[in-house]
Amino acid sequence: MMETDVLIIGSGIAGLAFAIKIAERKPNTTICLVTKADGFESNTKYAQGGIAAVMDNITASFESHIKDTIKAGKGFCNVETVSLVIKKAPLRLKELIKWGTSFDKTENGNWDLGLEGGHSVARILHHKDQTGWALEKALLNKMAEFKNIFFFTDLFASKLLVKNNLCTGAIFLDRTTNHPYAIHAKIIYIATGGSGQVFEKTTNPTIATGDGVAMAYRAGARVEHMAFYQFHPTALAVEEVNPSFLISEAVRGFGAYLINAKGKRFVFDYHPDGELATRDIVSEAIFKELLRTGEKHVFLDCRHLDKTLFFKHFPNIVHQCKNLDIDVFLDLIPVAPAAHYQCGGIAVNKQARTSIHNLYANGECAATGLHGANRLASNSLLEAVVFAHEAACDVAKRLPFISIVKEEIHSLLKNEKFDTKESNRNTNLKKQLRHWMYQYYLHTCLGQDLSFIRKEISNIQQKIEKNFVQYNQNIPAIELRNMSCIATLITKLQNNE
Ligand SMILES: Cc1cc2nc3c(=O)[nH]c(=O)nc-3n(C[C@H](O)[C@H](O)[C@H](O)COP(=O)(O)OP(=O)(O)OC[C@H]3O[C@@H](n4cnc5c(N)ncnc54)[C@H](O)[C@@H]3O)c2cc1C
Repeated sequence: MMETDVLIIGSGIAGLAFAIKIAERKPNTTICLVTKADGFESNTKYAQGGIAAVMDNITASFESHIKDTIKAGKGFCNVETVSLVIKKAPLRLKELIKWGTSFDKTENGNWDLGLEGGHSVARILHHKDQTGWALEKALLNKMAEFKNIFFFTDLFASKLLVKNNLCTGAIFLDRTTNHPYAIHAKIIYIATGGSGQVFEKTTNPTIATGDGVAMAYRAGARVEHMAFYQFHPTALAVEEVNPSFLISEAVRGFGAYLINAKGKRFVFDYHPDGELATRDIVSEAIFKELLRTGEKHVFLDCRHLDKTLFFKHFPNIVHQCKNLDIDVFLDLIPVAPAAHYQCGGIAVNKQARTSIHNLYANGECAATGLHGANRLASNSLLEAVVFAHEAACDVAKRLPFISIVKEEIHSLLKNEKFDTKESNRNTNLKKQLRHWMYQYYLHTCLGQDLSFIRKEISNIQQKIEKNFVQYNQNIPAIELRNMSCIATLITKLQNNE
């Protein structure tokens, strides 16, 4: 059993930025930062396109970023949140730069701003096509400067300790021994990222199993907008690779075409904005085109683009394609939609507080109201860094008035059964769940009947739950149960169905 002032679960941008902010404000506070993987692994690390922000401070530019975000969100955005995030973006970006992140500039010394779908102007700061990698590295380095941050890797959060709507800590399992630990804290901040692994095809790394949302939901937190899952239209379509490698939207912003097997640019048949329509529209257009043609994927065509400039902007994409024998300057790149971003999550207010006392959430696991039904490209790293600041200001004010509440670990764990042995019994169920969840999304996009798929998903979920109760637990079994919980939240019948 351990205790700390602040407990942060997750070491992506949302967790690290918050840790740094609290450590700066409260040097005498103990901060415990925990991740289930190595320190670097996260969705953050894979981000390519960049961070959308208005860096020139012109009111009209804020207005257009706000307008684009609200348009993409299809009427489900919280307008106040949108305005807060976009207007605070320049300050937070300057901090990221101060902490060691470098964003590309043009030869004239101006920001080399990228363009992506749904943006009416180029406003995306980036570090080549590896913005997330550069960010994660800079944040980890900055965090290491603080003596009051204690960083634990390979420690898996399995359960939140919540009684009478008050969160007092969490239970963790050591990845190698499955030994359980309880960590008690005054403030618990969840930053566990998304849940793309619930789908058969996803750009998210294998850590993205929705643990934070599932834990919070089971503990009674309010969760919202989970039905709004964003698929990215252009994941590299090579068989049996998990996760799918992303071909950034910035490539279409740079001028690449989406074509079908006959070489036709087809997206204009579905929407006047063509390749630069928002992600939901382009993904839907691809699914419809695939249904019409019977093909398995469409293609990105970069052959007409300036080679030198393309290589300068997208060296990693060129390199990854080359590893698969695809020369982006000579060949077509096979692409298909893949699950990419969880727009909903644990409902939070403007300080990132959840509906459970002393429990905060930020990043992809949280629903702040910024994205509505469909996230505008490159708004998610921005949201995480803005809300990390807002949460840190709130927590710093509240900390002196909160005390740690401890429970004895044996009583906490008396009904839990842990086992280091991995079993095959869940492997098949996981495969089935991921398959049917992809089919669920596909059928939703095509407006087809979902009742059969819902029944399949429900049968699989019952088996997962039965196994969970019957056998001793280990991390893969808990992750699968979390994925099953996320599937329930995504597929829950909406009021208008
Ligand atoms: C390929 C790709 C490209 C992207 N490109 C962009 C882009 O260009 N611009 C943009 O704005 N967004 C982009 N996104 C989205 C963006 O990267 C993510 O939304 C964002 O990084 C999420 O940050 P986070 O801190 O919330 O979570 P993450 O970065 O995913 O971090 C989650 C952390 O929680 C830990 N964790 C999870 N569960 C547990 C548990 N049970 N116990 C302990 N630790 C746990 C993980 O190990 C990890 O450390 C992209 C995403 C992907 C996958």
